[in-house]
Amino acid sequence: MSHNHAKNLVSPDQAKQKLVDGNHRFVNENYGAKDLSSNRRMTLLKEGQFPFAAVLTCSDSRVPPEILFDQALGDIFVIRTAGNVLDDVSMGSVEYAVDHLHTPLVVVLGHENCGAVIATVEGGDPPGSIGAITAMIAPSVQKVQSMGIAGKELCEMAADVNVGATLSDLRTSPVIKEKIDKGEVALVGAKYLLSSGEVVFFE
Ligand SMILES: [Zn+2]
Repeated sequence: MSHNHAKNLVSPDQAKQKLVDGNHRFVNENYGAKDLSSNRRMTLLKEGQFPFAAVLTCSDSRVPPEILFDQALGDIFVIRTAGNVLDDVSMGSVEYAVDHLHTPLVVVLGHENCGAVIATVEGGDPPGSIGAITAMIAPSVQKVQSMGIAGKELCEMAADVNVGATLSDLRTSPVIKEKIDKGEVALVGAKYLLSSGEVVFFE
């Protein structure tokens, strides 16, 4: 039996189920009651945060994790970058959740119609630092292109491959790997469908 933090008594499986249930509520427009009171804020301030999941997802304004998983203050630790790419800073943020906050589940959440993936497929020379993002997505796009896939299907498959690549990169972290090996943390990929509101977990 793995040791859990006193305030974080959910297992990785239970944490995933909470997200699945929350997304069902969102899809059905049957939202749970959320305590957004000053009492709740003061409790979170005094006792600290114990988020049951960390979610690395895209900055896209249509993909807010707290809303699409129907969660409240203190429930999920969110890291957002365009294209949900993983750099040293976002890696450190996930490690902080896992190591300091004892968060049992890490979700990498891609989504349908991702602008960062589409920009990478379109290529060219993006202005400013946008190229730093597309450069990180490019290997996933090239992988799908090499299978002879193009157009809309290319964008959707590349988004999924990009999530898989990010999961692989997260597993290279000694901090995260140690927790996975002890059974205290699980990593899972998922995709948010803008059309239906559903989050489809990859495993
Ligand atoms: Zn996106």
